[in-house]
Amino acid sequence: MYQKGRAWIELNMENLLCNVKQLQALLPAHCAIMPAVKANAYGHGARLISQALQETGIRNFCVASVSEAIELRNAGIDGQILVLCYTTPYQFSDLVEYDLIQTVVDYSYARQLNSYGKPMCVHVGIDTGMHRLGEPSSNMETIRSIWNLKNLKITGVFSHLCVSDGTTETERDYTLAQIQKFQSVIRFLHQNGIYGFKQHLQGSYGVLNYPHLSFDYARIGIALYGAYSSPGDKTIAQVNLKPVLALKARIECVKPLHTGESVGYGLDYTAVKEMKIAAVSIGYADGIPRGLSNRGYVLINGQKADIIGRICMDQLLIDVSEISSAAAGDEVVLIGKCKEQEITAGDFAERAGTISNEILSRLGKRLERVAV
Ligand SMILES: *Cc1c(COP(=O)(O)O)cnc(C)c1O
Repeated sequence: MYQKGRAWIELNMENLLCNVKQLQALLPAHCAIMPAVKANAYGHGARLISQALQETGIRNFCVASVSEAIELRNAGIDGQILVLCYTTPYQFSDLVEYDLIQTVVDYSYARQLNSYGKPMCVHVGIDTGMHRLGEPSSNMETIRSIWNLKNLKITGVFSHLCVSDGTTETERDYTLAQIQKFQSVIRFLHQNGIYGFKQHLQGSYGVLNYPHLSFDYARIGIALYGAYSSPGDKTIAQVNLKPVLALKARIECVKPLHTGESVGYGLDYTAVKEMKIAAVSIGYADGIPRGLSNRGYVLINGQKADIIGRICMDQLLIDVSEISSAAAGDEVVLIGKCKEQEITAGDFAERAGTISNEILSRLGKRLERVAV
């Protein structure tokens, strides 16, 4: 089959829908999931994922950039799309043309958006302690004055939690303080007669660790894809999230490696015994971190095979000495299930010294995405 050619991603849409159901069940009935489909839906493929989510009735999406938002519009996504990051003024026309919602990253940016001179939909970002985007929550009067800017149609107010995945007392206290700061901004706006805007605060871990909160939207990314950022992550809410993505490639050829021979660029691995090795059709240009050279492993027919030598741009080498059946054309699983064995995105990321979010979002354009 062409789509399962060299290296590809299999998307389990049933698991996606199962995750939607479980996460929606944690939220109050009036709170809608606003999937984070930025970075090509965390590498899964923005078009396929957003269309499947829209079919479940989801009407609100968030992305990082205008170009990502336009990709969704071109894929037939006709609900609301919130751009979470900064948009440069020469793209303000796209915000209007594609009917997007722009984040107000601070007060001076609000004025810049307003001076474009056309009605523009925005959500106001509030900084409650991450110190990234948003007008600082302590600047209540400044925040209120954004409502004086006549070209801004303010339909939402939101903030972002930065340690909601943490379970230590310090991390929980910090998150509770962020929640309180957000709520006091909302209260101040209400006291000033400002109503009629949606509120949102939680990402995946905000939902999983603070499920009692009651806002209008939850901006969920990684959990929808059925992954934890790190494999050991424990959360307050008990859910059974199921991985949506499997990453696969093929054995290209099998050959012996004799004692004392070395492999790959830099000859970075040397056989200390008689071995059988295989070349696999996936590399760092596809998003396999080069840091997994001599560190990672893959699954073939339910058996583990270590990555040996340096990972190349398009290929990598593995030790198949113990896998007698290994042959050219065989499927190789880098992330996903293979008979009794499984490598989760979290396991894979941990080996590479990062979180699954980074690994998934960097999966390359060259990989075909196939719904199964
Ligand atoms: C990416 C992002 C999210 C989603 O985060 P997850 O932890 O993947 O659920 C939510 N809000 C903002 C502002 C983001 O940038």
